[in-house]
Amino acid sequence: MNARTAPTGLELTGITLTYPDGTGRLTALDQVSLTVPAGTVTAVVGPSGSGKSSLLAVAATLITPDSGRVSIAGTDTTGLSRNELTTLRRGTVGIVFQQPNLLPSLTAAEQLQAMAHLDGRSPAKARGRALELLDAVGLATLAGRRPHQLSGGERQRVNIARALMNDPAVLLVDEPTSALDHERGAAVLELLTDLTHQRATATVLVTHDRSHLTAVDAIAEVHDGRLTTPATAGR
Ligand code: ADP
Repeated sequence: MNARTAPTGLELTGITLTYPDGTGRLTALDQVSLTVPAGTVTAVVGPSGSGKSSLLAVAATLITPDSGRVSIAGTDTTGLSRNELTTLRRGTVGIVFQQPNLLPSLTAAEQLQAMAHLDGRSPAKARGRALELLDAVGLATLAGRRPHQLSGGERQRVNIARALMNDPAVLLVDEPTSALDHERGAAVLELLTDLTHQRATATVLVTHDRSHLTAVDAIAEVHDGRLTTPATAGR
C-alpha cells in the first residue's frame, strides 16, 4: 500500500508545536510528519515527555500546531473554525482516553447510546448500533451492566466501543493498557488491531509499553519531539 496516496486516514505534515516555557518556548513537536492509512495501526512509542500526548492532541485537532498540516479522512483542517473542527471531530474522529471515564449510573449500552444524541440518531438506531459494537468488542452479554459491575479490561472495551459509535475514519488511542495486567493489555491491543482492520480506521496508538506491539502495522518512535520514520512492525 502506498501511504502517500491513501485518500482516507490521517496525515500529519511538518507539525511543529511549542508551549510557553518561562520567557521562551518549549518545542514539544519538531517538524513531525506521519501518515496513517485507513485500516492500519501505527503505534507511537517514546519516553515520558517526548511528545506523544501532544501528537495525539494535534491529530485530534484539540490543539492547533504552530505550523504544519493535519488532514483527516482527506480533509485539510488548516484554517477551519472551532465549530467546523468540532463538527469534523464528531463525524470522523474517535478518541479512546487512558481512563475510560464512564458514567457510573449508565449501563454499558447506555454509555454508547449517549454518544448518539450528539449526532441526532434515532434512539432505536443508536441502541442497535450500541449492541452491535458491544458484540464486536466481546461484551454482548454484558450490555446491561454498569461500570462497577465490569472489570478494568471490560471497561476499557466499553470505552473502545464508545469511540466507534460515530464510525470514525481516525481512531486515536492513548495508553489503553496502562491500567491492565499484561494478559488483559495484550487482549485489548489485539482487539484494537482487529477492529482497525475490520472497520478501516486509521488508528494511532500511543504507548510506552513495547511488549504488545507485534500486531501493529507500523511503529513510530518519538524522541524530544522528533519522529523517526515509521517502520513496519514485526509480523
Ligand atoms: P508525553 O506524552 O510523551 O509524555 P507530552 O506531549 O505530554 O509528552 O509533553 C511533551 C513536552 O511538552 C514535555 O516537555 C512537556 O513537559 C511539555 N508540555 C506538555 N504539555 C504542556 C503544556 N500544556 N504546557 C507546557 N508544556 C507542556
